[in-house]
Amino acid sequence: MNSQAPAPKDIAADGPPLSLGGLGISAEQIATALSRIVTHAADPQRKRRAQELPLDGADQVWVRSMLDALPAPVYATDTDGFLTYFNQAAVTFAGREPVLGVDRWCVTERLYNPDGSPLKHENCPMALAIRENRAVRGAEAIAERPDGTRIPFAPFPTPIRAPSGRIVGAVNVLLDISARKRAEKEAAHLACHDALTGLPNRASFHTMLDQLIAARAGDEAPFALMRINVTGHTHISDMYGHATGDEALRAIAQRLKKAVGEKPLFHIASDTFALVLAKPPGRDGLRRFAETLRSAGTAGTGRVREAGSTIAIGCAFFPADGRDAPTLVANAAGALTRARRTTTDPLAFFDANEDLAARDRQLLKSQLRAAIGDGALRLHFQPQMAADGTAVAFEALVRWSHPTRGMIAPADFIPLAEDGGAIVEMSEWILRDACREAASWQNPLRVAVNLSPLHFRSGDLPGTVQAILEETGLAPDRLELEITEGVMIQDFEQAMSMLRKLRDVGVRIALDDFGTGYSSLSYLQAFPLSTLKIDRSFTDNLGRVEQSAAIIRSVVGLGHALGLEVAAEGVERQEQLDFLIAEGCDLVQGYFTGRPAPIDAYSRLTGRDGTQRDDAPGLRSA
Ligand code: C2E
Ligand code: CA
Ligand code: CA
Repeated sequence: MNSQAPAPKDIAADGPPLSLGGLGISAEQIATALSRIVTHAADPQRKRRAQELPLDGADQVWVRSMLDALPAPVYATDTDGFLTYFNQAAVTFAGREPVLGVDRWCVTERLYNPDGSPLKHENCPMALAIRENRAVRGAEAIAERPDGTRIPFAPFPTPIRAPSGRIVGAVNVLLDISARKRAEKEAAHLACHDALTGLPNRASFHTMLDQLIAARAGDEAPFALMRINVTGHTHISDMYGHATGDEALRAIAQRLKKAVGEKPLFHIASDTFALVLAKPPGRDGLRRFAETLRSAGTAGTGRVREAGSTIAIGCAFFPADGRDAPTLVANAAGALTRARRTTTDPLAFFDANEDLAARDRQLLKSQLRAAIGDGALRLHFQPQMAADGTAVAFEALVRWSHPTRGMIAPADFIPLAEDGGAIVEMSEWILRDACREAASWQNPLRVAVNLSPLHFRSGDLPGTVQAILEETGLAPDRLELEITEGVMIQDFEQAMSMLRKLRDVGVRIALDDFGTGYSSLSYLQAFPLSTLKIDRSFTDNLGRVEQSAAIIRSVVGLGHALGLEVAAEGVERQEQLDFLIAEGCDLVQGYFTGRPAPIDAYSRLTGRDGTQRDDAPGLRSA
């Protein structure tokens, strides 16, 4: 063996005797048999004398015919490695008639290591078996026949001993391992290829990408990663069944493969392929290439074409758009999302401004779902004060404590929840948590909970509210639901009936952000409201915009005329507070009277520290 080849193993130390693949005979048994026949290896040139072994003629014939009948190649050498015997299978294996006394160590002329490097005959394990006087399980090697065909094999050499115990040579039994090697190759192919299209799969794609990035680490020559999507493929499956869908995809894969030529094309997801251009042309070149791919991908006839599938491609460059595989892949996917939105251009290049936001949204959306169950959502509470400085209510404001981004404001994630369908689950959690919290306060302050319009319109909201009140033991009149004018505009009748039902449950309804929407006076009268919350912008404009004072004054008058409580939001300064109180505003809420905070910050107001609501003076310092 050459130095790279693994050392032969000592079979005595390595487990059971060689079982020659179901031949029913061991290498040792063959060696013993061989040691009992007279070998006719007398080489006239080398003047070798046949070794004399004590066996009569009948035995010789029997042993010889048995060895010739064996399907495994068997041959023997003397201690110098010169061939002294071979059976019929050895001739077939070698692809030629070996020459006794001339060929040394092996029946074929050429040997190779599994890695393809040449293997010297004298390094074969037979020499080791003789030298060390033990049976050896040799390293796998490859024999080459005169016609160039190669057979992988495993050698099993065993020393041959004369009756005196002296080693007179070795016998080698070769096991043809072509079938196993073929199976291994097949398994390896299956592991890294996709069965449907026969293309390298996602695992090979990632291996290739990692290798390429590692190789480029030094010089950083750019390469392009293209994510190719067969848009509309699911429709094919939906319309014509999965068999047709598969057939279409296979056809598309074949045409794409033809179009990309030598470039490695991978099938990485059901309708998505990936392609790496190690030496990308400029952007114009890539656009032309993308057109070629689109033509190839959509050139199908018949049903595939009818179903209107087409090709969209997202492209990201190493290292500009990502230095590691996950970033690069994600950015190509971001670009692909944009490419799928247009029909004019099949190709979109990654654009940090456009695609990161979209990717971020997707990621946050999926994290938000998990956050709802994981306790990563928290409620902060902001007090609402009466003119005399006593706390009347707390508004619950949700926060998302994100593991890496810190606290996320509701304005940034409520739209995600509404978009992703998580809003109802989230709202119910908020409602339940807020009610449970309020029910635990010693002072029976109200709690106000914001309702998303989506939640307001969904399912059995009054039933849910009632169930949560019963579950938490909070009196209905201590819960105020804040809705915005938007819910009324969309479907007046539906909103009306929903509000009546909620009113029947006994909860209060506040109209939030009043003044910013349509502010139709007709519904103010029609709806069963309890509170009008003047939008923060009016408070903010006090002293700056002339009309704000007049607007606030008239809203307070209007609210009171309708029998509603009027609250003002966004109170940040003493003058604002003074004005609002002077105008008869019933409740004030804002940073000046108390910031949104975890409820523990307000234990003096809630009575958690044992104080009663009457002696809760220092509210401004909260
Ligand atoms: P909103 O209902 O109008 O809530 C008042 C917002 O104004 C809160 O912002 C609050 O922190 C802020 N704020 C309070 N006092 C002041 C002040 O003096 N000055 C200024 N500049 N701002 C003040 P937040 O908590 O970021 O909430 C924003 C919006 O998100 C809320 O507006 C509400 O529409 C929505 N939201 C908050 N919590 C929830 C919730 O639990 N469910 C739903 N559906 N929406 C929520
Ligand atoms: Ca609110
Ligand atoms: Ca508001």
